[in-house]
Amino acid sequence: MSTRQYTHFINGRFDGDAASYVDRKSPASGELVARFATGDVADMDRAVAAARAAFDHGPWPRMSGMERAEVLNKFADLIRKNFDRLVRIEVEEVGKPIRFARGDIEGSVGLIRYAASLAMQMSGSTYTNLGANKTALLMREPVGVVALITPWNFPALILMQKVPFALAAGCAVVVKPSEFTSGSAFELAALAAEAGVPNGVFNVVSGKGSVIGQSLAEHPGVDFISFTGSTRIGQNVIEASAKNIVKTSLELGGKSANIVFADADLDAAVDGALMGVFFNNGECCVSGSRLFVQSSIAEEFVRRVSESAALLKVGNPFDEDTDIGAMIDSKHMSTVMGFVESGVSEGAKLLTGGSAVENSAGNFVQPTVFDHVTPQMTIFKEEIFGPVLSVTRFETLDEVVALANDSIYGLSNYVWSKNIDTVMTVASRLKSGWVQANTVIDGAPQLPLAGVKGSGFGYEMGQAGFEEFTQIKTLFIHTGSRQPVFAK
Ligand code: NDP
Repeated sequence: MSTRQYTHFINGRFDGDAASYVDRKSPASGELVARFATGDVADMDRAVAAARAAFDHGPWPRMSGMERAEVLNKFADLIRKNFDRLVRIEVEEVGKPIRFARGDIEGSVGLIRYAASLAMQMSGSTYTNLGANKTALLMREPVGVVALITPWNFPALILMQKVPFALAAGCAVVVKPSEFTSGSAFELAALAAEAGVPNGVFNVVSGKGSVIGQSLAEHPGVDFISFTGSTRIGQNVIEASAKNIVKTSLELGGKSANIVFADADLDAAVDGALMGVFFNNGECCVSGSRLFVQSSIAEEFVRRVSESAALLKVGNPFDEDTDIGAMIDSKHMSTVMGFVESGVSEGAKLLTGGSAVENSAGNFVQPTVFDHVTPQMTIFKEEIFGPVLSVTRFETLDEVVALANDSIYGLSNYVWSKNIDTVMTVASRLKSGWVQANTVIDGAPQLPLAGVKGSGFGYEMGQAGFEEFTQIKTLFIHTGSRQPVFAK
């Protein structure tokens, strides 16, 4: 395995060298896999200046939607061409199982193609009903220079939930990826340049969030900040954005409910319960980490979930049959194990798992299932971000809606029932941006994702996600002679 080394990608090219680098060791094997330049405030200033120049004076925002779409589609083609390399980078840096990394890169291609179609449809509207000689044009324009700050769990996919939509609108972007997993952001920026994205439109600076993430969020050259990450850092970003009164969109943490009614397709729901919490090592913002099961089926259902969880394969993320790979780093693994200990000490019933994988060079946690979890317990409330499921039993629809809504978060929820009335009633009463019925962690580029409450605000993906990267300028036109108001 050769170590990849990246310098900042600014104004269409990689810097020659950097004064220092952050080492990234594989969380699965401990081997050094990549080195990322450690950026400072001056690097961020250069990147924002490049984006500013590209947006204010460059060709990208002035091209037709058709031209931008063509470049974006070439970008998608190049991702396909480099598919295996991009997949390998995600597996090496994140520690996620290879079959899910493939899904991330495939999903990225779909997002870009959809965003390309939106570039061609970007439009405003016209009012012709304002009275005689009055017309108004609502002109949709790109929002400008966009700061994109992204987390480590889906480095390529989350970036592609943002970049193509921003580029489709005609914006220029500066990306600050997670210091753990910056490789794919650099690779994608270079591929975008190869596809014809002009210099300065797609810049990437790596390094510490507390230094360059902060400086990007409070930079006066930025017009919009799109942040995905923890609720705590999201609060920082809001404070930083207040300095220059800059619009923000925040995709933050979650503690989603996965609700199984007795009349559900139980085979599908068992798989949905497992997928809900073990997908992407449990390091997933939309994890269905709180499983609610109707009491009449709970005994058998929970037994099936826990027995299947115990059979999942934890280990080398490059193995095709691995279900759960490595936690992102040892510190995060300790945090996850701390939550597991709190579950035991606060009286939840541990059904399976509950410990780290012994004799391993990597950060592996066994799939863990707790039963009889109550709303007072820490594992019911906190986002664990690991392969830890909490099960709570319920009797009635009213009771489970109240339990599901008992969270500071409101990102995503899931409901399993064959009764459409149950599905519609529960969906309408859940306080979250996303509800999925009889499926879990599903999606499509056309469908917007948004949080409510502590999960943030602002849309990502879909038409609504695209419009985040635009703004409306209202042009009011009076034709003919205007009735005087003041002139005597
Ligand atoms: P963090 O909030 O720790 O980091 C997110 C990004 O912010 C990283 O690039 C980080 O850089 C950067 N950052 C850190 N400090 C600052 C700062 N002061 N100012 C600006 N940027 C800063 O999140 P994680 O990377 O740990 O990701 C996990 C979290 O992300 C979970 O809470 C998860 O739920 C959430 N998430 C939400 C999603 C959604 O769509 N709602 C999707 C995926 C994840 P660095 O890495 O260098 O610290």
